[in-house]
Amino acid sequence: MFVASKFPQQLGQSGWVAMLPRRTPRPSLNGTVSADIAVIGGGFAGLSAARRLSQLDPNLRVVVLEAGEIAEGATGRNSGFVIDLPHEVSSEDYGGSDNDARKHDIQVHRMAIALARDLAEEKGWGKDIFDPCGKYNVALGARGDKHVVSYAQQLDKVREPYKLLDAKEIASVTGTNSFTSAIFTPGTVIIQPAAYVRGLADSFHHPVTLYEKTPALSFDREGASWKIRTPNGVVNAGKIILANNGQAQSFGLFRGQLLHVYTYASMTAEFDPRRLGGQRSWAATPAFPMGTTVRRVQGEKGDRILVRSRYTYNPGMQVSEGAIARAGRVHDRKFDARFPMLKGVPMQYRWAGAMALTWNGVPAFGEIEPGVFAAIACNGVGATKATASGIAAAEAAVGLDSWLVQVFRSFAAPKQLPPQPFLTIGATANLSMKEWSAGLE
Ligand SMILES: Cc1cc2nc3c(=O)[nH]c(=O)nc-3n(C[C@H](O)[C@H](O)[C@H](O)COP(=O)(O)OP(=O)(O)OC[C@H]3O[C@@H](n4cnc5c(N)ncnc54)[C@H](O)[C@@H]3O)c2cc1C
Repeated sequence: MFVASKFPQQLGQSGWVAMLPRRTPRPSLNGTVSADIAVIGGGFAGLSAARRLSQLDPNLRVVVLEAGEIAEGATGRNSGFVIDLPHEVSSEDYGGSDNDARKHDIQVHRMAIALARDLAEEKGWGKDIFDPCGKYNVALGARGDKHVVSYAQQLDKVREPYKLLDAKEIASVTGTNSFTSAIFTPGTVIIQPAAYVRGLADSFHHPVTLYEKTPALSFDREGASWKIRTPNGVVNAGKIILANNGQAQSFGLFRGQLLHVYTYASMTAEFDPRRLGGQRSWAATPAFPMGTTVRRVQGEKGDRILVRSRYTYNPGMQVSEGAIARAGRVHDRKFDARFPMLKGVPMQYRWAGAMALTWNGVPAFGEIEPGVFAAIACNGVGATKATASGIAAAEAAVGLDSWLVQVFRSFAAPKQLPPQPFLTIGATANLSMKEWSAGLE
């Protein structure tokens, strides 16, 4: 029997949710239901799995259990970059000579983007929710400029298109002279993450049923099926897809294999778009992987800037208001340095969110018990990786040996982490060192 010892904690008000009208959550589970497949977790992985299952067999009875409300979790509170090209292509992980492995990653990411694009077309979404506008990698000085150039060289090797921009050209996009160079890649899609995930959740209809505010408390084998207990109900399911990211560990799974890292975001109040030149909507990741992500979000009453930076290692899967405040001070400094023309525009929302990484950067994927399929460990880029692992878990659960399933099955197992206290000391030091080396970026 697998019993959850912990449930997700969501701290800080996500600006993405606050910008949307109120939504009535789907009712929580009361009583006993049966399903062919039950999905635990209503984020990118779980909802993509449910969507894929309904595509594979529209008669399949699928139950999705979400502990909180849709969009409250990391899926609804991220920066909204659905990347096709790894944004750490300039780091050691992607610096080797194994171009084929990189090509796989890119294809996998593009399959995830295809699912999102399909949904956007079905929903008739505009660019405010799903914008296939590409992204900029921006530099803030000579070291960043060097990274931009080396990223371009790596993209040459994998024959991916890009455009290099000098300081004047990137200023004409962002409206600020702070950036010294940039590289544009066209394949990334930018989403309003909370609107996206709500839309995905609300696209389900019979026989796919989503229960919100319904944490899975435990699951246990009963004959040929699985019994999942929730606070006021039971799901009897033939199979389970476990898609609750780092919280999988609270069921005693992947012990000592998941690194629980939090990252933080702040979003400004609306400002008069005439105060900042350039385009009204753009999205930029830093030249250094551990640097600061910035987005300009166009709104009807004004525009906003999103700043995302800081990472903390929190093995207890909890952060404090103090951590959000500390990250907020860093965000304020980054914002002031990049947008002096917006002096006085306050941050309206600040929040934190959880990610699950593995030591060797692989997903925690596969049939971990007979009939239980894991789509865990987003490795920080869940909009694509968790989506893809959810699709692959759905395909594996119905016995489809697709190309995607084969790719996911070919990953090595997550490496065992070093024992405590060395892990905490090492992980914290490593994050601090990488943040320090990212400097201004
Ligand atoms: C501030 C921030 C910015 C980010 N920016 C980006 C970005 O731009 N691009 C990108 O690709 N990634 C980004 N990420 C990472 C991305 O958000 C995650 O990788 C992604 O959300 C992982 O998706 P998931 O479905 O695996 O897990 P989650 O989004 O964590 O979803 C898991 C769900 O499971 C639910 N759950 C947990 N336990 C239970 C239980 N017992 N029963 C039922 N439900 C349960 C949780 O409530 C949660 O909703 C960012 C993250 C943060 C915090």
